This record gives sequence, C-alpha cells and structure tokens, in this order.
Amino acid sequence: MVMIEIDGSEGEGGGQIIRSSLALAAVTGKPVRLQNIRAGRSKPGLLRQHLTGVKAIAEIAGGEMIGADLGSRELTFTPGTVRGGEYRYQVGSAGSAVLVAQTVLPALMMSDASSTVTVGGGTHASWAPPFDFFERCFLPLVSQMGANVTASISAHGFYPAGGGEITVGVNPSSGLRGIELVERLGEMRPRVIALVSKVPTSVGDRECDVIRRKADWNVDVCEVIEVAKSGGPGNAVMIECQFDNVTELFVGFGKIGVRAEPIARSTLREARKYLVSDVPVGPYLADQLLMPMGLAASQGRASRFRTTTLTQHSLTHIAILKRFLNIRIDTTSKDDGSVEVIV
Ligand code: ATP
Repeated sequence: MVMIEIDGSEGEGGGQIIRSSLALAAVTGKPVRLQNIRAGRSKPGLLRQHLTGVKAIAEIAGGEMIGADLGSRELTFTPGTVRGGEYRYQVGSAGSAVLVAQTVLPALMMSDASSTVTVGGGTHASWAPPFDFFERCFLPLVSQMGANVTASISAHGFYPAGGGEITVGVNPSSGLRGIELVERLGEMRPRVIALVSKVPTSVGDRECDVIRRKADWNVDVCEVIEVAKSGGPGNAVMIECQFDNVTELFVGFGKIGVRAEPIARSTLREARKYLVSDVPVGPYLADQLLMPMGLAASQGRASRFRTTTLTQHSLTHIAILKRFLNIRIDTTSKDDGSVEVIV
C-alpha cells in the first residue's frame, strides 16, 4: 500500500496532527510517515503525552511503529489489525489522559471487539479537553452517531502533579450515522461546577460568586465539588451550556499566583462568546467532531454543523481526513460570521 506522507509542520504544527494521522492509519490500515513532528512548537518532537498516544496506537493496531521515542521528529507506522481488549496507559505527568483516549478511540470504535482503556495522567489541565468536556459534550454526540462508548473518572489529575485516571469502554457498533448540528435547540440548561482538590473550597465559592453575579442568565446550579481522589492540588471552574441537541463546556484552571475571580471572569467570557455567536458547535468541539464525522462520511453518511470561524486545528484536521479517507469536506462562510461544514 502507498505510504501517506504527512508534514507535521502543517497547520498549527502541534500534537493533533500526529494523533489524527495515527488514528486514521489504524482505522484504514494505510501506512503513514510523519516528518517535522511538532515543528511549530518551542520544544519540537514527541513529548511524553504524545509518545503515550503513539505507543497506545502501536499496541492496539499492531503492525510496526518506527521512531516512537521521546523527542523523535519522525514516525513511520505500518498498521496491522486492530485488536480489542483491556489496555492500560500512563502519561506520567499532567499530560492529557483524555487526548490519549481520543487517539485510540477511532480505531476501537470501528473494531468488532469490545475494549476497556484506562489512562493515567492529567484530566483537567490546560490545552486539552477536560474530562467533563469529553464525557458531557463529545461522547454524547459520538453516541448519537451510533458508537457505543462510556467514560468514567476514578481520580482527577490537575497540573502539575497529574495522577488522574480515566476509563473508556468501547463496544462494537453497527456503523456510524451522520448528524446535523446547525442550530441550538431548546432552552439552555446551564450548570456551573467548581472543582477543588487540596485547596480551600472557598476558592470554588468565590468562582461561583463571580459567575452568579456576572452571568447574563440565572445561575441556579453552581456546585463546588471537592474531588475525592486526585494526584495533587488543583482547581477548575466549568461552565456547561446544555441544549437539547448539543452541550458545550468552558473551563478555567486555577493557577498559583492568580486569584480565583479573574479565572472565573475569563471562563465566563468564553461562555458568553459562544452564547452570543448562536452557533451550536464551539471551536474545540468542531475540531474534535471532524474525526467521527469523517469516519461516518467514509461509510456514506453525511454530517453537517455550524461553528464560529474554523481554527487552525480544524483546518489541519480537515486536510488530514481528506488524505486518508475518500471524502469531501465543504466549508461555507455565512453572512453572520459563522461557518457551515459539510462532511
Ligand atoms: P502541542 O503540545 O503540540 O500543542 P497537544 O497534543 O498538546 O500538542 P494540540 O495539538 O494543541 O495539543 O491539541 C489539543 C486538543 O485539545 C485539540 O483537539 C483541542 O480541541 C482540545 N482542547 C484544548 N483546549 C480545550 C478546551 N478548553 N476544551 C475542549 N477541548 C480542548
């Protein structure tokens, strides 16, 4: 089979392009060579978190993976056959456990065996989907598309200690369906959650106070949850906007030296930006949904969604999906500033 060549410096030149390329290679059986890995980042090459995903794919899909080392800037993967089973991975820092799970999910979702994947690492840290986003926003849509995936969290992992643990269960499905997410349907059911771990609950109370006072809607539910088990101290404030057909979630992370109030305010600004825009799919969900939608499209099932301007991550994702799958992805800018994507 012809080797697909991917230039890792394309687009945002980050970790996403590696995860997506390997996931698609595993699903399609097409060999891939990745060069210039994470060339766009200040510390280029594979970091521990990416390497965990690479090794996970190599184990689950078999075949041959060359270049799976820390700092490596080139990878060649010739996939074998995806095997379901019980898998366990450890990122080893606050590197995202969710991103590792998302790397192997496409291959496991398309397999005809059941799997359980447990990943240790960060569950609520910057630059990755917080576990709640994965569980409450991403997975319900993927389930609606026909996949059988469950997720649970047994320990929270904040930056810098990590030490969280999540488990993802995947059962065979009879194929993926397309979905349409063009409007937000129904009244918003908002929820605010402030997680605290080994820091005073007053931090969460203060975040809730700010959001209660400044939100443009009635904040009926604002829970401060002291997590039962975690690898170290941390705090995250999450604003969930649940509609009948889609849920979005915005998160802010507590940082040493930064007061709780500005963190709550900037999280609220993110939520407000989404709410004002009137699109159903926010920027992060957009880049993550492209993968299951692309896989559904490769089975002849089209999807359509409306989002704000496409991020560099989404554009890269579109380019990668087209390299592996024989599908069309059309994007149309609308007068209201939104973008409609048809996969
Ligand atoms: P690098 O270290 O090169 O930046 P990475 O693997 O850490 O790579 P990205 O390539 O930037 O990360 O990919 C991050 C992924 O996390 C994207 O799919 C993005 O949608 C998702 N993500 C980041 N922040 C959030 C957030 N707040 N909510 C939901 N998803 C998020």
